[in-house]
Amino acid sequence: MAQGTYITNPTHFFNSDGDIPKDLPREAREFANFLALIFDKVTSSFPQTNREIDTGIRCRKKGCQGLIIGALEAIDEPVHWYCLDCGHHRVISNWRRSKWDNT
Ligand SMILES: [Zn+2]
Repeated sequence: MAQGTYITNPTHFFNSDGDIPKDLPREAREFANFLALIFDKVTSSFPQTNREIDTGIRCRKKGCQGLIIGALEAIDEPVHWYCLDCGHHRVISNWRRSKWDNT
């Protein structure tokens, strides 16, 4: 990953059926689920709510119980998310046409 970028491509975790493989290591599987849930939530409120969306998902950082806020500004943009409490943030690319794309 290039320095200074915080882009996650979730398709790296998916198998050829577009699923999260059951045999992925637990950590990777949980992370893939976490990402999928975020863009599932964000894309299901798009474009009615193209502002920040409370995903109801909890932060994965150790000791943090913060809520994850997601945003999608345009259909061809990546999904942005951040934690309300610790400020942890990332960008999700390549979310379109996956099983969790509700647009
Ligand atoms: Zn957090």
